[in-house]
Amino acid sequence: MNDTSTPVGWRWWQLTDDGRLSGFHTPYARQPWPRQSYVTAVCNHGRTDHGPHDAPWPDCECGIRVMPNLSHLLDGIRKHPARTGITPQAWRVIGGTAYHADRAHHGVLYVPDVIGQVVTAGRIEDACPWDDPPGTFRAQRASVGAVLHLSAHLARLAPTVARWYPHAAVCVGQTTGLAWLDEISSDHSDHQGGEVSASPP
Ligand SMILES: [Zn+2]
Repeated sequence: MNDTSTPVGWRWWQLTDDGRLSGFHTPYARQPWPRQSYVTAVCNHGRTDHGPHDAPWPDCECGIRVMPNLSHLLDGIRKHPARTGITPQAWRVIGGTAYHADRAHHGVLYVPDVIGQVVTAGRIEDACPWDDPPGTFRAQRASVGAVLHLSAHLARLAPTVARWYPHAAVCVGQTTGLAWLDEISSDHSDHQGGEVSASPP
């Protein structure tokens, strides 16, 4: 695949303890997404694995994961949790003890903290066939888009998230866990990929 002319997509994140978006793959598992600028994909494969590549690379896991539409992304979380990267191993890297306890308490071990839009730039590649839910593509660069959804149990962090990412509308759900995914889906059912009709936080 070559450069994309449809740069808006969807993805998921976890939140760091200070309310910033965090990816699951290094180097962005600990390094928060920046306020306005783009993150750039990095390949972690060493020379013995024929890397590192100019990410994203066709037969590698490198690149920033994006879904072209919301329904693919929600299906990925529901049906392919092992491929989402949202595993206890991943969030152990991202969060502190209180974060782990909160996730367990709310039953969101395989549900992300944040679902929202991204704007991509540069080259894109198809999904990594062994590592990504169907429909994923991998971008060279990506930036936070127009809307970020937080599940209800993270409402206390909404003002902090809004300060970090002032160009995104931060929407707090009424529900948490899998019910929250249905809520987001119905919020966007009338205008997939467009503006959000959810109540403001
Ligand atoms: Zn690579």
